[in-house]
Amino acid sequence: MACPFLKEGRARYCHAAPVQKLILDGPGAADGGRCASAQYAQCELVTKNGVQQDCCPHLEEIRVQYCGVSPVMKLVPFSDSQLSSCTSNTYRYCDSYLLLARPHATAAPAHLLYTPNHFWLDAEESGMCHIGIDGFLADVAGNVDGITFVTAHGTHCPALALTVHGVEWPMSFPNPLMIQKVNSRVRSDPTRLTADPYGAGWLFEGWELPGRTRAGLVSGPQAAAWQAEERGRLSDEIHETHAPGCDGGSPVRGVAQLLSRQHLVCLFQHFFSNRGWTVEA
Ligand code: SF4
Repeated sequence: MACPFLKEGRARYCHAAPVQKLILDGPGAADGGRCASAQYAQCELVTKNGVQQDCCPHLEEIRVQYCGVSPVMKLVPFSDSQLSSCTSNTYRYCDSYLLLARPHATAAPAHLLYTPNHFWLDAEESGMCHIGIDGFLADVAGNVDGITFVTAHGTHCPALALTVHGVEWPMSFPNPLMIQKVNSRVRSDPTRLTADPYGAGWLFEGWELPGRTRAGLVSGPQAAAWQAEERGRLSDEIHETHAPGCDGGSPVRGVAQLLSRQHLVCLFQHFFSNRGWTVEA
């Protein structure tokens, strides 16, 4: 499925010019001027002994695609692969799309798969995958001070370290992925991770290894039941360590920011280190 902001049109260019500049056709566009009239004969790029025609034989028309919301219109020929992320489901991770289509969205898309240590996996039919942390981890952390990518290319279990309230949480996605790139924007602006964990805060992009990348992950109602179980387990742990005897209330968003270093390390080990399922998956 293509991005709803991807536009298509026709454009013209001169194939005799040293630099080929595409000009979009359509309402409000220039009409081709001298190139599209008999005046083309006056152009210095046209050989003077040719047969006179209604428009210049060097004027070409092609189909193009362009982003309808980008401030700079860049026309790309249909045959070019530069816009491949706009013509597949990968558009969901484009900043321009996210800004307009889901400015305040934090809800998890229904098709995601989850690992027991709170990563999500978005695996497209094409094999392209994106990985990020889930809303549970984002809520617990509240804020992430820094992100270090341990694996950035090649076939590995994607790994990184999050710095949360001065404590480093080394995390890895439990299954291998052929990693193509990491989201460098979350490295320079880690707030993206907790503000939009399912969109602008994505972490890894790569190709699925059939039978391996999604092995053992859960989705749908099974994932929803597990997420509810995890919230209950978190509530129990926080009450045990910080409010023994108190049996009500859910931990606030950013509860990690209120914990001591020792408790933060325990919290990480109990919920986000590599481990198996705490409920039957
Ligand atoms: S650049 Fe982004 S918003 Fe524009 S068409 Fe491509 S995916 Fe959509």
